[in-house]
Amino acid sequence: MTHQVPLFINGEFIQSTSTQKLPVLNPATQQLLAEVPMATPVEVEQAIASAKEAFKTWRNVPVPERARLMMRYQALLKEHHDELGELLSQDTGKTFEDAKGDVWRGIEVVEQAANIPSGMMGETAENVAGGVDTNSYVQPLGVCVGITPFNFPAMIPLWMFPLAIACGNTFILKPSEQVPLTPVRLIELLVEAGVPKGVVQLIHGGKDQVETLLKHPDTRAASFVGSSAVGRHIYETGTASMKRVQCMTGAKNHSVIMPDANKVQVLNSLVGSSVGAAGQRCMAISVAVFVGDSKEWVNELKDRLAEIHPGAWNDSAAGYGPLINKAAKERVLGFIKAGKAEGATCLLDGSDVVVEGYPDGNWVGPTLFTDVNEEMSIYREEIFGPVLCCVTVDTLEEAIALVNRNPYGNGTSMFTQSGGAARKFQHEIEVGNVGINVPIPVPLPFFSFTGWKGSFMGDLHAYGKQAIRFYTETKTVTSRWTYQETESKQLNLTINLK
Ligand code: NAD
Repeated sequence: MTHQVPLFINGEFIQSTSTQKLPVLNPATQQLLAEVPMATPVEVEQAIASAKEAFKTWRNVPVPERARLMMRYQALLKEHHDELGELLSQDTGKTFEDAKGDVWRGIEVVEQAANIPSGMMGETAENVAGGVDTNSYVQPLGVCVGITPFNFPAMIPLWMFPLAIACGNTFILKPSEQVPLTPVRLIELLVEAGVPKGVVQLIHGGKDQVETLLKHPDTRAASFVGSSAVGRHIYETGTASMKRVQCMTGAKNHSVIMPDANKVQVLNSLVGSSVGAAGQRCMAISVAVFVGDSKEWVNELKDRLAEIHPGAWNDSAAGYGPLINKAAKERVLGFIKAGKAEGATCLLDGSDVVVEGYPDGNWVGPTLFTDVNEEMSIYREEIFGPVLCCVTVDTLEEAIALVNRNPYGNGTSMFTQSGGAARKFQHEIEVGNVGINVPIPVPLPFFSFTGWKGSFMGDLHAYGKQAIRFYTETKTVTSRWTYQETESKQLNLTINLK
């Protein structure tokens, strides 16, 4: 019998009564791993009601207690790191090491959540008027919701619920229906760590379930990570229902290569950041901008990329795994065809790559285009595959202008030995996460993940201090206390009576 992915509602793992189910497939083999139910309206309603009820008590649990839950959770996640990596590589197709990296980046956020007491501190000013003091407090919002994508089934749920819960909220996670197995295990471990009943809920589904969560009067905030088209819909729907919403969405990340850069570092970085994880990272480098003579390195880049081959999760020599599903593979192949038709030069074409022993996998080999311009679809669209486009410009100014014209602003990097060039780049570039001689500049969780422009909708970003502000409300109390002689006498009397 096929494994049925459970829901987690009101402190219990339960089988959905839904008849609507989707298959969960291993993308290297198409083997059916499980079936995931689309939660029924009654189940979604039960999850919200349970989260609302649990909030009444969870919000009053002392903040050091909430921090200790996160410490226990962090220890369990570390203890089960290999097991989580193996599970995650089954439904995403990621190589084992990459899958462990996905889990690790999530564990780091749990460590930040364990530090929540200092994050929940407000501000104080004495004597704002005669005998008047003002204190601000941060308080949790209520029922928060998270909607997560397929490409990081551990890290991105862990961007959300540990911090939301540590802040005193309750949380409903709706992970990607394509990769639900790891999120279930994350919740099981949170239960083992001692999370009280109702504080976290897990439901599965798609558009209908998400809309109920966004429009329901008892939910307060929604975090979304996924494609730009869905993100826009979620942002509009959520904010129209007066929810606090943050959406981390699609990207087109450029890496600017100066002629004085360290060539070995550049080539290593471009290979890993463009085709690693099959290019299915929101911070993947998909455009290399060669400034001046650095364009001479393109042929060496092609040779280096040609050495990388995709393979199954259990192949330790594989550079990366398959695309998530057949449709994603067809989409990437469509872009490769379009790039050729639009006049780009395809120096390396991964369309027909074969992985021995895995004829049914969603494979695409490393692909490299040169002579790319801004009008081409391979430049404009997020391909989300192992495809790198090369653009050449004459000056740093031109490179900066090119990156700034792009509607996305998730991440960018530059390679140079010049502090002056790096300073100019980091100051003038209109992108939120910037790497200098670092290819994929994902900030650690004591900072926030600060995508800009078309890669982000909302005001407060994921994880770090900004996420604590996102998951809390500030209350400011102004108080006047005057000390009176009669009061002191009454106080003495009370004490004497005791
Ligand atoms: P997706 O938008 O297809 O799905 C994301 C989530 O939204 C899933 O849980 C899905 O079930 C749900 N969903 C899908 N259609 C919906 C609808 N009409 N209404 C409501 N919910 C809906 O994204 P994906 O393909 O799973 O993930 C890849 C995308 O995520 C890429 O665009 C990538 O750049 C982006 N991403 C962005 C970041 C970031 O931090 N900016 C990080 C990771 C991934």
